[in-house]
Amino acid sequence: MSRKMIKKIVCPHCSASVDTELWSSINVTQDPAARARIMDESLFSWCCPECGYQAKLLYPCLYHDMDRKFMVYLIPELAQNSLSDPVVEKQFPELSDIKKRLVTDLNAMKEKVLLFEAGLNDKAIELTKLALSEVLAKRRGQAVSTGYFCSYDEEQNRLGFTFFLKGEPEPCYQGTRRQVYEKSLEIVGHFSPAQQDGAGFIRIDGAWASEILKQYRSEL
Ligand SMILES: [Zn+2]
Repeated sequence: MSRKMIKKIVCPHCSASVDTELWSSINVTQDPAARARIMDESLFSWCCPECGYQAKLLYPCLYHDMDRKFMVYLIPELAQNSLSDPVVEKQFPELSDIKKRLVTDLNAMKEKVLLFEAGLNDKAIELTKLALSEVLAKRRGQAVSTGYFCSYDEEQNRLGFTFFLKGEPEPCYQGTRRQVYEKSLEIVGHFSPAQQDGAGFIRIDGAWASEILKQYRSEL
């Protein structure tokens, strides 16, 4: 079930106090329209009815896809890498085999949704992304600031990523063969199998991938 609450938000422009709907969790299996509102970010767009001031309003929101068995918990500015949420775990006791991920920004949330929907493993995607960003940084002589999985072509066996290089406003598309992903899957199976994930939410991101890659390279 999707859950929302009403909170008063004070407009930073005109100081009006505005009752605002905040969605603490959305269930896209029961409420498919909510998925689109995550993907176009309208769930986090705020507009003051008094003065028209617009802002992005990020708040904790749990994304739940029951069919594909994953949850992505967006918690802005969260510092820790894992989270056991007894309330959520109690709420969904039947779903202990579900993938649970923590993210701190909306782009990362959308990326998880896209790749889990494509049936991909997010750990292998993070490793693939890291390997590609290293190659790209070397080739362009510029550090990569962020990168996201963006497409999977099953027929062509290709995965696509979008990278942002430091100091360059335009994103850079980078495709790769599925074999690179398969190799990453092998590394995941060895260093971080799913059965070691535990019951709570975990963060799988670039920092996680760097750590795993370090372990892998030290064993070579
Ligand atoms: Zn206002």
